[in-house]
Amino acid sequence: MGTVQLNNQGAEVRILQELLNLNGIIVTVDGMFGSKTYDAVTAFQKHHFDENSNPLLVDGIVGPSTWKSLMAYDKRITPGHGTTGDTYTLARIDLLHPKLREEVRKIYSEILQSNLRIRITDTLRSFDEQARLYAQGRTAPGKIVTKAKPGQSYHNYGLAVDFALLLPGGNKVSWDMDLDLNNNHKADWLEVVAIFKHYGWTWGGDWSFKDYPHFEKTFGYTTHQLLTLHQCLNNNNAYVNI
Ligand SMILES: [Zn+2]
Repeated sequence: MGTVQLNNQGAEVRILQELLNLNGIIVTVDGMFGSKTYDAVTAFQKHHFDENSNPLLVDGIVGPSTWKSLMAYDKRITPGHGTTGDTYTLARIDLLHPKLREEVRKIYSEILQSNLRIRITDTLRSFDEQARLYAQGRTAPGKIVTKAKPGQSYHNYGLAVDFALLLPGGNKVSWDMDLDLNNNHKADWLEVVAIFKHYGWTWGGDWSFKDYPHFEKTFGYTTHQLLTLHQCLNNNNAYVNI
């Protein structure tokens, strides 16, 4: 495969565009290396490495290293990644409060249809997990990561979602809010935020104490009210009745 760059056209450009799509960066396959293909190539180069694990040069020119990295797409794909959805994400949706599962499946499918790739990194968090998280930076090593004691987070009731962007290849995530991996000149992070908000979810990025990966749907309950409901349950691991 020869070197291809801006304003080239032909069969090799067509192969390039097909490979970009296989790597999760969506471009039209028309055999013309225009500005959209150029943007897609630089987006790919920013997040991939050559055979010696050095970052690719971000120059929009497809030479031997970029070709090789593009062709390694099949080695990076993990089972469950693709238009059908990310296995971890689907499993975590199933842990949400029963009232939210169907809605988040719909949200996730809308996200996939918009050529956005995310991983839901957390949904339900048990009281024990919350206690461990709260201890971090206080009675246990590490940095403080939460202000919420067990029962004080909507995650404890399966009413919250945390997410990150899934990088091409499907096994690495990113919290970079400027990424535009679907190459439509809009930040993927904010596209995801818009979809959740459309379904009436509250975004942690709108709070004064920013929590950008976080969404919650509270049905008007405070965590204090939910805790009271939770204490009435016979089974500590059941979902509260709302
Ligand atoms: Zn959260």
